[in-house]
Order: sequence, then C-alpha cells, then structure tokens
Amino acid sequence: MRPVIIAANWKMHTVPAEAAELASTIARRTAEAEVIRVICPPFVALAGVRDALAGTGVAVGAQNVHHERSGAYTGEVSAPMLEGLATWVIVGHSERRRDAGETDEQINGKIRRAREAGLRVILCVGEQLAEREAGRAETVVRGQLAGALTGVAGDRAIEGGAETDANGAWLAIAYEPVWAIGTGRNASGADAAAMAVVVRDALAGIGLGGDADAIPVLYGGSVTAANIGEFLAEPAIDGALVGGASLKPDEMAGIVARAGLTARARAAVPS
Ligand code: PEP
Repeated sequence: MRPVIIAANWKMHTVPAEAAELASTIARRTAEAEVIRVICPPFVALAGVRDALAGTGVAVGAQNVHHERSGAYTGEVSAPMLEGLATWVIVGHSERRRDAGETDEQINGKIRRAREAGLRVILCVGEQLAEREAGRAETVVRGQLAGALTGVAGDRAIEGGAETDANGAWLAIAYEPVWAIGTGRNASGADAAAMAVVVRDALAGIGLGGDADAIPVLYGGSVTAANIGEFLAEPAIDGALVGGASLKPDEMAGIVARAGLTARARAAVPS
C-alpha cells in the first residue's frame, strides 16, 4: 500500500527563527501518525527546523541539491552536506527549471547524488499552460520523467545508497502543472488523477518495473484545506506538495487532517 504524503515547500519564505517556530506549530497542529509529513524550509533554516521537529514524527526536506558531489560551485549545496539536516529533497521544481535553467540531465544527476546520500526524493514534473492547451501535457511529463530517471533505477552503483524505510520508497513524484503553482487555479482532481496514471505508466517504461505501482504520486498546485479532498478522493493520488498554504498552520491542519482520513480509509481496504 502506498503511503499518504503531505510535503510543505516553504520556498524563499521565513528566516531561521520564524521557521523553527512555524515548524513546531505545524507539527503540533498536524499530529496524524498515518500521514508522512515533510517540511522543506530554506537551506539556512534546515538545522533549526530539524531541532524544532525532533520527536514530532515530521521529516525535514531540502528544496534542492546540486548534481555534483563537490567542486567549484559557489553558493551551491551538495547531497553530502545535507546529511544530518534533511532526509528528503525536492528535485526539479518548476521554479528552478524556470529560474535556474535546470536541465533534465542535471535533474538526473541530482537524483543520483540524493540517492547516494540516502535522501528520499520528491521529483517535480508538470506542463506549462500552452503545452496543456496544445494537447502536449502527457508528452511533456513523460519526457521529464524519462530525462530525470533514465538509468537511475537500474544503476547498481547507487542501488544500495538510498535508505528506504517502513514508510515507503525512496521516490515520490509530484505532478505540478506549472499553470497551477501559486496561481490559485488548481487542476481538477480528475485531470490530476489521469496524469498520475500516466506517470505510473511512464515509470514502468523507464525501468522501475513492478516498483512503479508502489511509487506515491502527489499533486501540487494551489492546494488548500478547501480543495485537498478533491485530490485525495482519487485513488491514484497519494498526497500533495503544498506551497503557499503550507506557511499557514490552519491550512496545514486542515490538509493533514483530510490526509489522515484518506490514509486510514485506504489502510482499511484489503489490497
Ligand atoms: C509548490 O511550490 O510546489 C506549489 C505547489 O506551490 P502552491 O501550492 O503555492 O501552488
């Protein structure tokens, strides 16, 4: 059975002191043991948030990682540097593809480095509005998955690197249509679910084989406490990557409470 995951992407918000306090508040307000909760603050707040979340069951994630292990890359953060600070990392977010010009090749390298360091990866994929309107959404997402993951699954050198645990696999995919991120215009649950099916089909085709069915697919794009139910009502969708609403404890409390209902309902159904 796939886990239900709610991951918070705080983007470039919060200074370290605020981040630690906000993380504590969110942990207290989202005490749902059946839901994997992850908070991804800015790099400079990772240590404080890690300390604030100790013993709460909420995991810490980074928002990015470099595709090389070390080197002359001023201002960058490598996977080994995240050891002890984070157990998850977001890779390939559309804001980084757009603003930092991240390529599929670099994203593939980031995933390899993350796995070597034992980090669990949330890989973001999603089409632009013009691509959806041109009927190319599925092609774009399949291409992003292939670019990011080809060779990763079958690479024996890194196969043993990533720790997985009872909570699930090392990889989750976040389907985030770019036109829905930060716009208040979310995809429909049905459209997101249709793309989740495409994602699993694509994963099976690029070497994840039987594992593809076990990989959680999250939806991201203007998720709130008011609309999370539409996504979690879809059996193909296993949670959400939440941006703006994840900075608001009331919103997170509502989102995670709804995710807890889904997690318990799915656990009650024999698979
Ligand atoms: C995101 O940052 O991944 C995101 C989905 O943002 P928002 O929820 O604000 O659309």
